[in-house]
Amino acid sequence: MKVFLSKTIRVNGNNWKLACDSTNSQYYPLVFYSHAHSDHIPRKIPKTDIITSPTTKILLKNFVKNYEEGNYFESYTVDSTTFKQKPSGHIVGSTALIIESSEGKLVYTGDVSSRDKGFLEPFSPEKCDILIIESTFGSPDYIFPAYGNVIKEAQEQISEYLENDIPVVLMGYALGKAQMLYNAFSHLSDNIVMHGSNYKINSLLLEEKIKGSIPAMAYTEAKESNFLDQKNQWILFTPLKSGRDFFFSYLKKKYDVKLFAFTGWAISDNYNYRMAVDHSYPISDHADYNELVEICKLSNPDQIYTIYGYTTRFAAELRKQGFSSIPLSKQTILDSFL
Ligand SMILES: [Zn+2]
Repeated sequence: MKVFLSKTIRVNGNNWKLACDSTNSQYYPLVFYSHAHSDHIPRKIPKTDIITSPTTKILLKNFVKNYEEGNYFESYTVDSTTFKQKPSGHIVGSTALIIESSEGKLVYTGDVSSRDKGFLEPFSPEKCDILIIESTFGSPDYIFPAYGNVIKEAQEQISEYLENDIPVVLMGYALGKAQMLYNAFSHLSDNIVMHGSNYKINSLLLEEKIKGSIPAMAYTEAKESNFLDQKNQWILFTPLKSGRDFFFSYLKKKYDVKLFAFTGWAISDNYNYRMAVDHSYPISDHADYNELVEICKLSNPDQIYTIYGYTTRFAAELRKQGFSSIPLSKQTILDSFL
């Protein structure tokens, strides 16, 4: 199998060609979409065979403009080569792809997490010959504390504010992080309100009966009905933005809210100051450095390609640990065909 980057991640077998997570609308004979984050989905549904999960298919319908029906498959076969998906533990519907053929076994993780967060099935690595792994946090600077401990600490802080009639705003990306936050914190208040972006995705998940949604009121409705003025013990879920943003400045001024950010980048110094938030917690829908290394060890491949984020750094760290590893770059095209 040849692995290379040409506008997108490409894998060529003897008698098949695959493109992974292509955002462009070029023609590829077969494509795989690992999950529905915007940097992994096409601008237009291609007229070709598509491997993706049923949940990602539903999300694609809603996120791709001028959606046209595609030819979807959960698993796929070309002669003796099989293409199968397994949960990647990143967001609702996210999967990794496993290709097995006479040429060997390849695993493409897409975005991945092997941590147990209580509601998504974590990625479980399996032995393979070639591993294409994301490296968003592929630097030893990004080692997160135990998930359960971080959640407990945040729960205590949130509860303390609510008991003192101080409303809280919990910020995290509306698809992926938000569902983790609902799962961990929504039980702390009877008054759950969502920003429009969160509300839209939550309603879709609710309607499609996809795990990760909760009953909630839209922010506009809560504001217009004076719900936010009448109650104090509310939780508002919003996307993650700077606390200096107009909307958050307004919330602080009007309701004296406390801002909580949830992101892997919170491990960096001065994060609270830079983002003008009251509290931040390092939880992520991506694997941290240790998880990434562990996935590589358990997969024990002959060759690793790193993609997204700290590709060069992570590939170098893996080489130090005895793996054959290179960042997937345009250069790989030359290497792979020589
Ligand atoms: Zn993602």
